[in-house]
Amino acid sequence: MRIGKILGIPIYLHSTWVIIFAANTYLLKEQFANHPGWSPAQQWSVAVFTSVLFFASLLFHELAHSVVAQHYKIRVLSITLFIFGGVASIERDPSKAIQEFNIAVAGPLASGFLAGVFVGLALLFPSNETVATLSDWLWKTNAMLAVFNLLPGFPLDGGRIFRAIIWGATKNFSRATRIAGGSGRLIAYAMILVGGFAVFKGLVVPGLWSVFIGFFLLNAAQESIAQVAIRENLSGLRAADVMSHEVPTVGRAISLEEYGTEVLRTGRRCHLVITDDRLVGMMNVHTLNSVPRGEWAHNSVQAVMIPRERILWATPDEPLLGLLERLLTADINQMPIVSGSDDGAAQIIGMVSRDSILRVMQTRSELGPLTAGAASK
Ligand SMILES: [Zn+2]
Repeated sequence: MRIGKILGIPIYLHSTWVIIFAANTYLLKEQFANHPGWSPAQQWSVAVFTSVLFFASLLFHELAHSVVAQHYKIRVLSITLFIFGGVASIERDPSKAIQEFNIAVAGPLASGFLAGVFVGLALLFPSNETVATLSDWLWKTNAMLAVFNLLPGFPLDGGRIFRAIIWGATKNFSRATRIAGGSGRLIAYAMILVGGFAVFKGLVVPGLWSVFIGFFLLNAAQESIAQVAIRENLSGLRAADVMSHEVPTVGRAISLEEYGTEVLRTGRRCHLVITDDRLVGMMNVHTLNSVPRGEWAHNSVQAVMIPRERILWATPDEPLLGLLERLLTADINQMPIVSGSDDGAAQIIGMVSRDSILRVMQTRSELGPLTAGAASK
C-alpha cells in the first residue's frame, strides 16, 4: 500500500507491516499497564503514538540511506516498511566503494541521531510522564537499531560497510561481496541458534523473533552471494556467444489460430513478423496468451504483435550480464540481435533467450575451475 512520497521517493507499507505494528503496539501497551496513574485508554493511546514514532524512526533511517544515494545520482525506487523493518531499494549498486560506505553508514548514524533526540526530549521534559515513558523506549530502541545494523554481515548496513572496506582495499567487488555475505551467514546462524536457545529457556517471543530475523538474513546473504556468482559466470560473455542463429518468421496476415498451431507444431516461442522481406513486428506465446482463446480465429498476428518500434534490440557485442538484466527488467524472454545498423540496413542475425543464458551459466558453474582459469587470462 502506497502511503505517500518523500523527496520524490514513493513510500510503501507491506501487508506484513500491519502484523508488526499491531504486535509492537500491544507489547508496548502491556509494558505501560504498570503505570499507576494511567487509564487503559491512556495506555493504548501512548502505545499507538510510540509505535507510530518508532516506524517514523525506521523511515527516517531509510531516508538517510536514500538521501546519500541520491547525492551520488543513484535513483531510489521505493522505501517499504515490512515485518522486519524497512528497506530502501535503489536502482543499481554504487560504482565506488566510498559511495557504498557513505550510503550504508548514513542509516545507523540517523538512528543514533534519533536516539540522541529522544534522550534530549526526556531531559527537556522530566516532569511529563508521557514524554518520559515514550522517549525512554524510543531512545533505547533507536540505539539498539543503530548497533544491530552495524553488525558486519551482509545485508545489514554493517555488512555493506564491511564490504565497502574490503572492496576499497582489494578493488575486487565479487570477493568483497562473498566475504561480507559469508559473515552475514554466520551472524544469521548465530541469531537462529541464540533464538532457539532462548525459546528453550522459556523466552518464546523474543526467541522466535530472533530465529525469524536470522532466517531472513540468511536468505538475503545467500542471495547476494548467488548474484555475485551470476556476475562472475557471465563475465566476458557477449550476446553473440550464446545467440541462436535461427530466426523463425511468420507472415503478418495469418490468424492467431494459425499462429498457435505453428507454435505447437515447432515448440518455438517467438517469431519475427515479416512482410515483403521487411520486419514489421515480433510475436510470441506471451502475446498470444493475452488474447482470449475464443478470439484467436478472427484476429490476425498483425493486430496483436509487438510493433517494430517497440521491440527491444541488442547488438552482438553487448555484454551478456547487462542483456540479462534488460530481459528481466522488461519481463521478456528473448531479444533479437541486430547487426550492421550503421548502413541503415539493420539485419537480424539471431536471438538471445533467457534459456540460452541460463544454459551457459549452468555449464560454466559445472566447469568451475576451467572458468576461473579462462577469466584470469
Ligand atoms: Zn539501514
